[in-house]
Amino acid sequence: MIFFIPLLFVFPKKGDLAFADKLRRLRIRCPACAWEPSRTDRWYCSPGCGHVWNTFDTAALCPGCVKQWTYTVCLSCSVASPHEAWYVDEPEESGG
Ligand SMILES: [Zn+2]
Ligand SMILES: [Zn+2]
Repeated sequence: MIFFIPLLFVFPKKGDLAFADKLRRLRIRCPACAWEPSRTDRWYCSPGCGHVWNTFDTAALCPGCVKQWTYTVCLSCSVASPHEAWYVDEPEESGG
């Protein structure tokens, strides 16, 4: 059984707000070659429904067939890496 929870009805906690803020600041780059995809880049759902979309807009969830991809192929070096591995923390600015 699957429940869809409308996120807008969930009271945000302090941790959630911090996490959302953190996600906004995450950079995306290929773990293998450091290539950074732009918003105009597109991925194919293959093997799958053949849908074309920017996989980082949906956290690797295909809008066509709702398949959750765990690996994302680099459009530059063709290496498949875990989707989570594409997100990197910006180094914090510190005076030391
Ligand atoms: Zn790459
Ligand atoms: Zn698909």
